[in-house]
Amino acid sequence: MTARIISLLADLYKIQDLETKEVLSGKATGLFRYKKMSPKVGDIVEYDKLPDNQIYITKIHERRNDLVRPAISNIDQAIVVMSVLEPVFNDNLLDRFLTILEFNNIEPIILFSKWDLLTDDEEITKIFNYYQRLGYQCLKVSTKLNTLDNIKLNGLIEGKVSVLTGQSGVGKSSLLNYLYPNLTLKTNEISKALGRGKHTTRHVELLELGGGLIADTPGFGTMDFTGFEDIDIMHSFKEFFEYSKECKYNGCLHIKEPHCMVKSKLETGEILKTRYTNYLQFIEECKKLRKW
Ligand code: GDP
Ligand code: ZN
Repeated sequence: MTARIISLLADLYKIQDLETKEVLSGKATGLFRYKKMSPKVGDIVEYDKLPDNQIYITKIHERRNDLVRPAISNIDQAIVVMSVLEPVFNDNLLDRFLTILEFNNIEPIILFSKWDLLTDDEEITKIFNYYQRLGYQCLKVSTKLNTLDNIKLNGLIEGKVSVLTGQSGVGKSSLLNYLYPNLTLKTNEISKALGRGKHTTRHVELLELGGGLIADTPGFGTMDFTGFEDIDIMHSFKEFFEYSKECKYNGCLHIKEPHCMVKSKLETGEILKTRYTNYLQFIEECKKLRKW
């Protein structure tokens, strides 16, 4: 029988049967101790029910993607929440999220949250449109204005396994409560369980919400580029990668090389300045990490 692991507490797994949707508790067989792998949240697994009704996970299906922190696998998409104000819009953090997600083969959805706080939305709309043109699904959301893309979010969550991410205070829990009002109590409990308190260890759990499964996480590990090569950074700045076909030099890093299409597109304003600054910074961070 096949199931998805939805939570793990101590050595007890909660799994959901893929067919019956029944939620069961079980353990992993000792077999996994001999392999260098243990089942984790998000895993699609085979399980057996023993005559004493104990449930045992016997096999892990191949993972489509696999994050270490949070420890979760097989994610369809990451919902990245970025507030436009309070805290002020952080382009560096957004590009960092996008780079890490592209590297891990996880599709990002960008939520520009607290849109209601803007008195003048011209500048942020330019940024919004830019990321949308890159091919990312972008939504303007607010828990105070119903006119925005709030409802679209429902449709995107349905049938998918998502991680909800973004720095603290951008409105992640408010959004969940807004979309799923009967969840209010639950999220508070969940926040506690998720280790928002100082001394609790972080705990990952997939919650059934809006016909999909969602895990709530503020970020991915240390949010650095350990294990990245320059090429990984280059690939995730999609528009740069596209333009690089017209750079004079093969493998142009768009730093000091002459006849660089990325730099000319930067000069004409077709590339956002912040994208270029973040790109340079990420390449530099990569270099430093390799030196260690
Ligand atoms: P989280 O840490 O990402 O879960 O953020 P919270 O949901 O706890 O929200 C942080 C603060 O922002 C709270 O005081 C919320 O009331 C406020 N907030 C959340 N969403 C919105 C919004 O759409 N508009 C405005 N103006 N404030 C919001
Ligand atoms: Zn170039």
